[in-house]
Order: sequence, then C-alpha cells, then structure tokens
Amino acid sequence: MKIEMLGIGSAYSRNWTTSALWIESLEHNWLIDCGPTVPQKLWLKQINLHKLDIIYFTHIHPDHCLGLATLVNYLHNQQRHEPLLILAQTKQQPYLKSLLELACLDEPLGFEIIWQDISDRATIGGQHYESALSDHPVANRSLLLNVDNIRLFYSGDGSPTRQTIKLMQQADLIVHECGNGNTSAQTSNGHSNFQELKALCSQTNNTPWRLYHCPDEHQATLSNALQTQTNMTLAKEQLLAADGVIYG
Ligand SMILES: [Zn+2]
Repeated sequence: MKIEMLGIGSAYSRNWTTSALWIESLEHNWLIDCGPTVPQKLWLKQINLHKLDIIYFTHIHPDHCLGLATLVNYLHNQQRHEPLLILAQTKQQPYLKSLLELACLDEPLGFEIIWQDISDRATIGGQHYESALSDHPVANRSLLLNVDNIRLFYSGDGSPTRQTIKLMQQADLIVHECGNGNTSAQTSNGHSNFQELKALCSQTNNTPWRLYHCPDEHQATLSNALQTQTNMTLAKEQLLAADGVIYG
C-alpha cells in the first residue's frame, strides 16, 4: 500500500502543487482531487496511470477539479480501455461532465467513465469508505478510506463538523486542510484554522495529523506554531505512508 501527497498547495500557490493524494491499495488505486497542476505532478512522478481505478472529488472548486480534462485526455491518448470510476456528489457531476467535453473533442473517448454519487458509507469491490460534509461554501465531502491496514482521513476543504470529527476519531492518519493559515485566527472562513485543529488534535489520542492547503505566505508561521505540537506536522509532497508505516 502507498499513500502519497501529490500536492499540499492552496488554490493560488506559487510553490506547491494543488492539493491531491495518490493512493495504492490491494483493491484499487485512487486519485483524490485533481486540481490544475496535479496532472503535471503525475507525469513528473511517473505514476503508472494505467493502474488508476477511481478518482474521488471532495468538491468542485477549481483548485480541486480543473485537471480532470487534461488527465482524461492523457488517458485517452495512452489508449486506455479499462473503465474509470469517478466518485462525485450527484449535484456536482454536471460541472465535471462539462469539463470532460474538453478531454476528447474529435473522437469518442476510448474508455468508459462510470459515475457514482458519494454516500455516507459504501464498499467498492471490497474496499470500504465513509464520508461526511465539512463546513465549506461549496459542499465538500471529507473521506475516511480503508487503505489496507491504515484508515486514512482526508478532509478536502472546510472546517471540521460533528460528522467529520466522528470520522477523524476512527482514523489512523488524519490529513487535514489548514486553509486559514493565520495561526492566531479563532474563526473560520470556510477553511480550518490552526487553533481549532490543535484543539481537535488533543481529542484524537496519538493519531498523526498532517496539515496541507496552507497559503504560501502563512507556511513559515504555521510551521513555527507546529514545532510545539507532538502529533501534528505540515504535510510534505512525498509519501505519507507505505507498507503500513506512516511517515513524518
Ligand atoms: Zn474549496
């Protein structure tokens, strides 16, 4: 198994790839979100995209989905034939489908795309996931996914809610956005702030937290504030876990 952070960047980051995860497990290989700079990172890392089974969209803000047309265009040009499953909220699917019109303009797409709504809980080919709505201006579905022996929580965007906290409390690894990087902020503006995440971290035993989606200009301050935290660090654009081991 492998959980790799492809990008930790906020929407307009100059330094980082837009936030996304690549996951390999016994059952399926997942891409979680596909912002505009994610395809380039996939090529750069030479990830074998023939092995991609599922794309999961937490929500459809541009920094989480605009890479879809490029990625599907690439898969078509690579002569992919295997079907691709896209998990997205039913109400958000028409926007993603309109992006796909750009993926293949001159001939029919060479493989089938299967669309599925995101449920509160479901099992896909033996792999279990749960999801819950965070507090974000565009409906965002946080994910708790069994990746072999690691239960991974990935927030997507938004502040924690009662429902997402329940999922976090079951997780072995929590990957959470900290889109409000002002470390003294006490209120949320559709993104999590450090103070609320720090308080939550103390309620999740020793579960490791990795923070991402912090604006470039706040990274140094957040990194400083995290130095006194035991279980919480800034996520890096690298492997978060492999073969059952969680990395720092
Ligand atoms: Zn968003």
